Amino acid sequence: MAKRDYYEVLGVSKGASADEIKKAYRKVAMQYHPDRNPGDKEAEEKFKEAAEAYEVLSDNDKKAQYDRFGHAGMSGNGRGGFSGGHGMNMDDIFSQFGDIFGEDMFGSFFGGGGGGRRSRGTGTRGSNLRIKLKLTYEEIAKGVTKNIKVKKYVFCTTCGGSGAKDKSSVQTCNTCGGSGQVRKVTSTFLGQMQTVTTCPTCNGEGTSITAKCGSCKGEGRVYGEETVSIDIPAGVQEGMQLSMSGKGNAGERGGAPGDLIILIEEETHKDLQRDGLNVACELYISFPEAVFGTQVEVPTIDGRAKIKIPAGTQSGKIFRLKGKGFPAVNSYEKGDQLIHVNVWTPQNVSAEEKAAIEKMSASPNFQPKPDKSEKTFFDKVKEMFS
Ligand SMILES: [Zn+2]
Ligand SMILES: [Zn+2]
Repeated sequence: MAKRDYYEVLGVSKGASADEIKKAYRKVAMQYHPDRNPGDKEAEEKFKEAAEAYEVLSDNDKKAQYDRFGHAGMSGNGRGGFSGGHGMNMDDIFSQFGDIFGEDMFGSFFGGGGGGRRSRGTGTRGSNLRIKLKLTYEEIAKGVTKNIKVKKYVFCTTCGGSGAKDKSSVQTCNTCGGSGQVRKVTSTFLGQMQTVTTCPTCNGEGTSITAKCGSCKGEGRVYGEETVSIDIPAGVQEGMQLSMSGKGNAGERGGAPGDLIILIEEETHKDLQRDGLNVACELYISFPEAVFGTQVEVPTIDGRAKIKIPAGTQSGKIFRLKGKGFPAVNSYEKGDQLIHVNVWTPQNVSAEEKAAIEKMSASPNFQPKPDKSEKTFFDKVKEMFS
């Protein structure tokens, strides 16, 4: 099934402000909220779809990536690995709600009934991590899996991320009784209103720690490194960003990890120059080769290719190898390789050569006679960059 456009899912236009996106999401999420549509699978799907759309459109990096590359930019062209909210579970979705609805609003709208669904005791979310990744043309052309050692906060294995020394040093919070939330009934001119706020004692975690884990000093994470396997889809470009959900810094005390954001850089190639999907190279042939024609090998992003140079080839001619350029990251389109021919003019000649050339130079065959079909320099430049 084709994925719907994220803007369409939330019912906003592409130019919508962050505030409009937030409001639109709030509306859709309320409409399809599982507490209001118990057992309704379709509503649940719509609810998840909206959460995914909001997760992307509310994050500047992800939004920019989505605006440029569509769903392909988010899912890595179906290779998996990148996640723009794909596979969000209900806990992830409800953990978004804190900043969408505000704790108070959430509690009163759903009578606190949905509160039980929220993941409690989740500590603080880890921050996003950005890394640069340099790729060769060959790697970009085919797509590649890179195993990168990333220095970052990792989950503390001693305490299982809880930050506590052992099980007995985790105590249920006395203030909130473990729910992480406190309720308050206030009187307003509209009548009594119940509000729910995060427990100030435990910061919503529901527990407090009496003795800290020795390895992480109670943080639930330690600074270390992790080897991350990154699937790069074919056709990425310099400046493009990919994000891997949950591969950033580990959260504190079991909090959700941040995302890993990968900034793509291109390594320059000794023979080839990229221009969008096309790739160009310079080819030097000798004057006799240009006159008699020849067969030469040229470098491509996929090994070497043989091309035929016909007799009488002019300097400046551009040959095109169809489909030998880069693949597009979000379609089946492929670029071409353009080969720019340069006929080498000898810079030093012997007395003998000089005499031979002088003898030939009187021949009418050596006089330039460009015909109408010959493309002008300007046409070629235009074609080269089309
Ligand atoms: Zn620990
Ligand atoms: Zn508490």
